[in-house]
Amino acid sequence: VALTIGLNLILSLTKSALARWAAYCDTTSWTSMHKVFTDKLLSMDYIDIENPDTQQKFSEIRQHQNGMGFGLRRLLIAYDRIIAGLVQIALSVSLAMSLFTLRVPPASPLSYLDSPLAMMLFAIALLCSIVVAPYLSMVGGKIWGRASHDNNVANRLFHFYFYQLTRDAHRAKDIRIYGQQPLIERGASWGNQIGHWLEYARYDARFSAASTAVSYLSNGMVYLYVALKALAGAFGVGGIVQYVGAITQFGSGFATTLTNVGMLVNNNVFLDKAFAFLDTPNLMQQGALHVDRRRGATYTIEFRNVSFRYPGTDTYALKNLNLTLDTGRRMAVVGMNGSGKTTMIKLLCRLYDPTEGTITLNGIDIRQYDYDAYLALFSIVFQDFRLLPLTLGQNVAASAEVDVDRARRVLWQSGLGPRLENMPRGLETPLYREMEDDGIEVSGGEAQKTALARALYRDAPFVVLDEPTAALDPIAEYEIYSRFDEIVGDKTAVYISHRLSSCRFCDDIAVFHEGELVQRGSHEALLTDERGKYYELWNAQAQYYATETA
Ligand code: ADP
Repeated sequence: VALTIGLNLILSLTKSALARWAAYCDTTSWTSMHKVFTDKLLSMDYIDIENPDTQQKFSEIRQHQNGMGFGLRRLLIAYDRIIAGLVQIALSVSLAMSLFTLRVPPASPLSYLDSPLAMMLFAIALLCSIVVAPYLSMVGGKIWGRASHDNNVANRLFHFYFYQLTRDAHRAKDIRIYGQQPLIERGASWGNQIGHWLEYARYDARFSAASTAVSYLSNGMVYLYVALKALAGAFGVGGIVQYVGAITQFGSGFATTLTNVGMLVNNNVFLDKAFAFLDTPNLMQQGALHVDRRRGATYTIEFRNVSFRYPGTDTYALKNLNLTLDTGRRMAVVGMNGSGKTTMIKLLCRLYDPTEGTITLNGIDIRQYDYDAYLALFSIVFQDFRLLPLTLGQNVAASAEVDVDRARRVLWQSGLGPRLENMPRGLETPLYREMEDDGIEVSGGEAQKTALARALYRDAPFVVLDEPTAALDPIAEYEIYSRFDEIVGDKTAVYISHRLSSCRFCDDIAVFHEGELVQRGSHEALLTDERGKYYELWNAQAQYYATETA
């Protein structure tokens, strides 16, 4: 008794300890798997992140993982179960062996149970139970691999319309004002139809039902064989319990092993997708040249015959651009909406590479420089910049560590100083309420000032401001212009705007029209060409302001 109790105690303690360890490994494997994908998404080329195909692929991977557990994690789960299954098979075989060695007494009318034919029938029944039934279930499950694309499109639509749009506070205003609710419901039900979920589930269920039927029938035959052998006197009634138990264990061990091997086979198509995604090459990251960042280093950036088409489009967003930017210069870029101004900046910071032509830094193709080192040359405020729901200081520093004095200085420079003084927690104040209850909602203008401060904090030799004052009130806008030189200091500045009056302070103005650089010069020089685009734009805006004042 003591031995039994002792052994049981040791075994159950070991089991609990191992189970705890397994649970821990399971949780960490879950997080590390997510980290693999998060790292990939965060380091992927911008062009790939923007590509709808990438979004589609990733959401497919996520769906397989969360929906049916297919993908990277299935490997861990399946191997774990296969090992358990194999151990179960070995133990049950050792317990069941004597079923065949103990023979029915020859005088018994049931002695045919030991004949080769009976043994063969027994083996067939057993095989049906352990091979055919799991096989049928695997065939049914295969449909989900084939359905994966449809399901994914459907899930994305459904998720977007039902969960994202309905909760999106930024879109909620327009949805209400324009009564777009039925439109959204229509989108969600559209997603449902594309999914054909019911059809796929029916297919799977048919095979599942066949598998269960085969399994019950064949198990019944196996049990009958064991019971008949006991009845014929080959072993006692206790033997029935032993053999039925062992055969059940054998069947379930075998089924577990086979089902999981099947799962691994079915999982390959999902693994292919996951690895194809993780192996997407980072074409931007291939250069290795060092960028000289010593004090006093000078930089000349040159666009040479650069043309660019966005992926999947036929028209050129930029055509044959030739342009030079020298250290310390200030250039304003003006032009109508869609004339290619922002595209030029995106090429400059290598969010895309030119379709034709090259961009050089100090005479060397920018693709040859180490990408991170090259990017560090630029402080850019994009028109559609985004702040994060973190503290004001972390937003400005773009890092968890904040140099408080520097952050305060640039916030004052960008015009957010007085607001900063009013914030209850200063630089520690969280922006937005998405993550923190005491976060503050900033206005468009305040966000723009924060983004400008972030650019100044970075202290890069090139400052690029794309419509930096679009959301500012006229006084704030005036302040920024009048202190522009002081703010930018000795850096090279590119200043984009479609408000021409705000570019007058620049002695070098580049005029873009339909993807081309059509004019370049000072405000006064450009105005002398009465047939030029600048003259046209200037007069259109001057007229507008004149009417306004009148
Ligand atoms: P601007 O900054 O002068 O207003 P852009 O450089 O943003 O103009 O756009 C130039 C052209 O490129 C426009 O016709 C615009 O529709 C197109 N475009 C901009 N971004 C993309 C994109 N991500 N994909 C496809 N076309 C784009």
